[in-house]
Amino acid sequence: MQITTTIIGAGVVGLAIAAELSTTRRGILILDRNPSFGQETSSRNSEVIHAGIYYARDSLKARLCVEGNRMLYRICEAGRIPHRRCGKLIVATEKAEEGILASIRERARENGTDPLELLSARQIRQLEPNVKASAALFSPATGIISAHRLMRRYLSQATRNGAQLVTRTTVERVEPAGAEGYRIHVAYPDGLSDVFTSRQVVNCAGLDSDCIAESMGIDVDACGYRLHYWKGEYFSLEVPAGFIKRLIYPVPQENHVGLGVHATIDLSDRVKLGPNATYLPDRNIDYAVDATARQSFFEATVRYLPGIAAVQLHPEMTGIRPKLQKPGDPARDFIIAEESSKGLPGLVNLIGIESPGLTASPAIAKYVGALIGG
Ligand SMILES: Cc1cc2nc3c(=O)[nH]c(=O)nc-3n(C[C@H](O)[C@H](O)[C@H](O)COP(=O)(O)OP(=O)(O)OC[C@H]3O[C@@H](n4cnc5c(N)ncnc54)[C@H](O)[C@@H]3O)c2cc1C
Repeated sequence: MQITTTIIGAGVVGLAIAAELSTTRRGILILDRNPSFGQETSSRNSEVIHAGIYYARDSLKARLCVEGNRMLYRICEAGRIPHRRCGKLIVATEKAEEGILASIRERARENGTDPLELLSARQIRQLEPNVKASAALFSPATGIISAHRLMRRYLSQATRNGAQLVTRTTVERVEPAGAEGYRIHVAYPDGLSDVFTSRQVVNCAGLDSDCIAESMGIDVDACGYRLHYWKGEYFSLEVPAGFIKRLIYPVPQENHVGLGVHATIDLSDRVKLGPNATYLPDRNIDYAVDATARQSFFEATVRYLPGIAAVQLHPEMTGIRPKLQKPGDPARDFIIAEESSKGLPGLVNLIGIESPGLTASPAIAKYVGALIGG
């Protein structure tokens, strides 16, 4: 195959981009270091279709999440991808938090999400008898999805159009190769290596995306491309099916490092609590759940689910957020940049694609398609 466009990373974003680009071009190669697609962050998340409520006005996160939310429901319906538009409640557990709900509602309005409805304590009890809150916002556009089935759908669309996925292939570095585009150096698990050229490169290597950019000679510290890892752990909550019918979120933390320990349901009605947010200064990829965190998860959740006991919480799973901020830094937007201005035409870097990257994936793909031409 004559390779024209190489996509580094077969997570939900790389696969969405492959599906989008493959509608208008041939010679697309998707590379991933794991034995199969979607084995890192894309399979270690809450699987929530976000509405786009919290993000800064006009940011890529806000715009691509709101657009992605609408596109995703259409993709799910057309492709019979398991999903549910269950809605979510953002709950105030004390009077002081009720003022924050008003600012969240205003931000959501500015971002163009479906309007949020303010609910009283009585309305909350009627909808969710196990939730205790003095007020809440109801988001009708929030839902849940099977991330694996979505990725399978993107992949099958891309391969039907001639794209090829090659797994167990680690991209070690990318260097400019003049008129030929870029030279891509790859390594295989058996110790062998290879080099090939590609006219365009799309770097969606998730946790490794800043290292790939650095290998191209970009000063990632000067450009603000350096990633910081934040671990997010989950506990499952052993409760009867239907204990909650919607996603329940506390009001978010000030710094937006995470949305606070929330209660999500999955498509089989299991309840998951989390994720918390722990900074990993050494960037160790460690997916173990710290069982001693049970008490802090319990204390965070019992405020709005007062009927639960700590023994009902069980360590479940972990994901690692590829953030552009370290502790104390302000919230950052996604970086999605075509790098002609750095002397690297035809190269697109996607860095810091944390939440809501799953929701935004179809809109990100459209955006990248526009950046590098049809
Ligand atoms: C705890 C947590 C909860 C989240 N919850 C939600 C949510 O509910 N809703 C939502 O919308 N978003 C959520 N997100 C965000 C969402 O999961 C991510 O934005 C999305 O999965 C990012 O996809 P990606 O394809 O960019 O990255 P990844 O899934 O990390 O894919 C990158 C791929 O690149 C490959 N790769 C890396 N380096 C190399 C290399 N050198 N060579 C070859 N291949 C390489 C990896 O193997 C990987 O498959 C959450 C994230 C976390 C961490």
